[in-house]
Amino acid sequence: MVYLDHAATTPVPRPVADAMYQVLAEQFANPSAQYAMGLEMKKQVERQRETVARALGCAAKQLHFTSCGTEGDCWAIRAAVWQNRRLGRHIVTTAVEHSAVLESCRQLEQEGCEVTYLAPDSDGVIKAEQVLQAVRPDTALVSVMLVNNELGTVFPIADIARGLKRKNPQTLLHTDAVQGFLKVPFSARTLGADFITISAHKIGGPKGIGALYIGDRVRNPRPLLPGGGQEAGLRSGTEATAQIAGFAKAVELRTERLSETLAEMAALRDYAAAAFTAIPDCRIVGGGTAPHVLALALVGYPSQNIVNDLSAQGICISAGSACHRGKPSHVVAALHLPKEVQGSVIRISFGPETTREDIDACAAALRRHHDTRFPRL
Ligand code: PLP
Repeated sequence: MVYLDHAATTPVPRPVADAMYQVLAEQFANPSAQYAMGLEMKKQVERQRETVARALGCAAKQLHFTSCGTEGDCWAIRAAVWQNRRLGRHIVTTAVEHSAVLESCRQLEQEGCEVTYLAPDSDGVIKAEQVLQAVRPDTALVSVMLVNNELGTVFPIADIARGLKRKNPQTLLHTDAVQGFLKVPFSARTLGADFITISAHKIGGPKGIGALYIGDRVRNPRPLLPGGGQEAGLRSGTEATAQIAGFAKAVELRTERLSETLAEMAALRDYAAAAFTAIPDCRIVGGGTAPHVLALALVGYPSQNIVNDLSAQGICISAGSACHRGKPSHVVAALHLPKEVQGSVIRISFGPETTREDIDACAAALRRHHDTRFPRL
């Protein structure tokens, strides 16, 4: 099997699974328990919080574990709108955010918020000035992702943060960094966002665990889940100790030789871009620069047919975001491409385990698809 869908999720390396197993089977105490095993678990969770926080460039107390990236996005958006409820009910976001952000915004629209959805250019790029122009005195929140999951475009969050501080310092800034964490270099300390969402399963960690960075400008955030007081009283619920252990181990493994790994992935992306664009009718879509995502179109060939055909040959790629389950992608639609391009977009995404042989196998299968099927769009 050739797996080229790392933006959807990633395999868990053995040491991550071992760390989780140890917690599930041996150190299974509730971190709130008052006997030795419970107290030890509490310390362990705090050490693991430090590991993830260090990689994100923040203090451990600013990092709150969540059940996934989706939860972090929903939490951040609600928390920002709540904090700024006296300032106004206007939100600025982009048309190419993950559904977790877009659907949260739609829900808030039903509750009286007004949302501006910024359109990208035909490369999927959003500029800082465009975001700042949309900000008004009543803008409670700006939510712009760091890396787009379908195109690999990187958005200028630090520039947006600087501009916001000049234009409307009370406006809070959230960034969904689920596809950016340990993929593009950044630090919470210098990025300038008030909320940063991350998720473990995009970096070799388990599914079902993520984290939300909440910066110091967010005062007395309203608890997301009131209850027993875990996560500094903001998100109650017994800590998912095995998932947290897996998250921290995955972060440790990825940060060991991060700059080398990212350089290797970027070189692999260049190699893949050359291999795929050598196929007739195949071209790159969007101006993505993230090292792990390559969006392509085999112009005229329906993307779902490509995905099915490659799947039959043991190759896993995606026809856009895995979260859309066969529906046309809102990200690709936002680029306003010609119909025969829009309907033929596929996404190849890599991890540190991906080899040139994987790329060659995928390119050969795509060429076979091109040579043996008729274009239909
Ligand atoms: N945000 C982005 C950019 C994503 O790519 C994803 C997952 O595909 C999410 C949020 C949601 O993360 P999770 O699957 O952990 O809920």
